Amino acid sequence: MTVALAFDYAPAPETTRPHIRDEYGLFIDGRWTRAHNNRQFATVNPATEEFLASVAYASELDVDAAVKAARKGYEKYWSKLTPAARAKYLYRIARSITEKGRELAVLETMDGGKPIRESRDFDIPTAAAHFFYYAGWADKLRYASRNGADALPLGACGQIVPWNFPLLMAAWKLAPALACGNTVVLKPAETTSLTALALADIIAQADLPPGVVNIVTGPGETGRALVSHPDIDKIAFTGSTEVGKQIMRSVAGRDIRLTLELGGKAAHIVFADAPLDQAIEGIISGIYFNQGHVCCAGSRLLVEESIHDEVVARLLRRLQTMRLGDPLDKNTDIGAINSAEQLARIQELVASGVAQGAQLHSQPFSAPDRGYWFPASFFTGVTQSHRIAQEEIFGPVLSILTFRTPDEALSKANNTPYGLSAGVWTSSGSKNMWIAEHLRAGVVWCNTYNRFDPASPFGGYRESGFGREGGVHGLREYLQHA
Ligand code: NAP
Ligand code: MG
Repeated sequence: MTVALAFDYAPAPETTRPHIRDEYGLFIDGRWTRAHNNRQFATVNPATEEFLASVAYASELDVDAAVKAARKGYEKYWSKLTPAARAKYLYRIARSITEKGRELAVLETMDGGKPIRESRDFDIPTAAAHFFYYAGWADKLRYASRNGADALPLGACGQIVPWNFPLLMAAWKLAPALACGNTVVLKPAETTSLTALALADIIAQADLPPGVVNIVTGPGETGRALVSHPDIDKIAFTGSTEVGKQIMRSVAGRDIRLTLELGGKAAHIVFADAPLDQAIEGIISGIYFNQGHVCCAGSRLLVEESIHDEVVARLLRRLQTMRLGDPLDKNTDIGAINSAEQLARIQELVASGVAQGAQLHSQPFSAPDRGYWFPASFFTGVTQSHRIAQEEIFGPVLSILTFRTPDEALSKANNTPYGLSAGVWTSSGSKNMWIAEHLRAGVVWCNTYNRFDPASPFGGYRESGFGREGGVHGLREYLQHA
């Protein structure tokens, strides 16, 4: 079912244009180098399908060069610096991200399809905030150690990030690793390499010693080469549960530290006594932020049965006001889907929801001629056995289920192999506390959703992975005996 468009609006396009090179190399040992055999791949703008740049395709040989550079950077430079000197570099990077914030935001939006409002107000400032936060920790590491042991770095770390928050995920990984005295080989996702490459420029300008940060672009194969490299001391991975499991098998038996930030299917629970105006906005941002390409998205809405009809009516009205379109328009709420492949995944799961008998409601939408698009949507009439109630759609599609008692809400919420995040809306403090205590999720938001702070740990249980990023917990993942 669709509803009619309530109003039109004037476009407000972002006019800043970042400089994009025609061709990018690999950033290894402080220099730009070509990939072995000069292999390249194209990165496109998912809103227009236009070619943006040609990016180096790192082979096993290139990954080996990057790991060697990281090892040398660790032994020769980074481990020899005082913590305060390391902090100085991190502050430089943080300031530079802030200064170049506008260009980085536009670049992120052009390469990945997310609304400029989100990259400008969330991704880039939060990436800078992580560098500022961990810069402050660099000379206080002994306070991160739980057992009073010396806080020593691990060595050379391999880090692999996904395409949904490209620069932010890179910052989550790089900042704590560097603050602790480790060196890094970072692999961005194939569809969104450009902000990581812009970060390489920032790192070069900040004058970091060679080999401390190396950035290798390429597809999953490049990531696989990094994971199987014998001279890596730690792998930090953010991505799908499927690849996370492969990585776990591949590192089994090796003396290597591993953290995995994987998928999720968060329960977002709304009780009848919730502040409903705020809860509706929480539901909307919980699922539609970044087109639902969010591992902690509130993608399973559990509504107390007595308010189900009212919540659905309000969500339908709210869908009419959502603006889908040009991600560079400052009024856009729903941008482009990141890739044709991701769009196909969303379409397949949505088709399964319809085939299994759930009712689909979508915002009014006529697809532009080019680019990858999916309207903000939700399903009613969902049962727990539907695939759309169990599997991660990773798109702007919410599944709505109901419950009658707090116990039923809890058992439905925990009925998932994942355990990354959850949300609860109620005016009762004790109900909030009770449910938060019993939810099996790494992060529980009460009367809010999708709030992030560098000081606050983030990570999952069960098939959502293990290890934490953010806060002091995030530091311990990069220290020995901590
Ligand atoms: P993905 O396919 O697992 O890819 C993640 C990263 O791993 C990309 O850089 C990818 O490279 C690389 N990769 C692919 N195959 C690999 C392999 N065999 N060995 C090593 N690296 C490999 O995940 P995605 O589809 O890009 O991202 C979406 C998923 O990430 C969702 O499931 C989401 O929930 C999860 N996610 C979790 C968090 C969290 O913090 N828990 C945050 C964001 C996203 P290419 O892109 O070049 O193929
Ligand atoms: Mg792209």
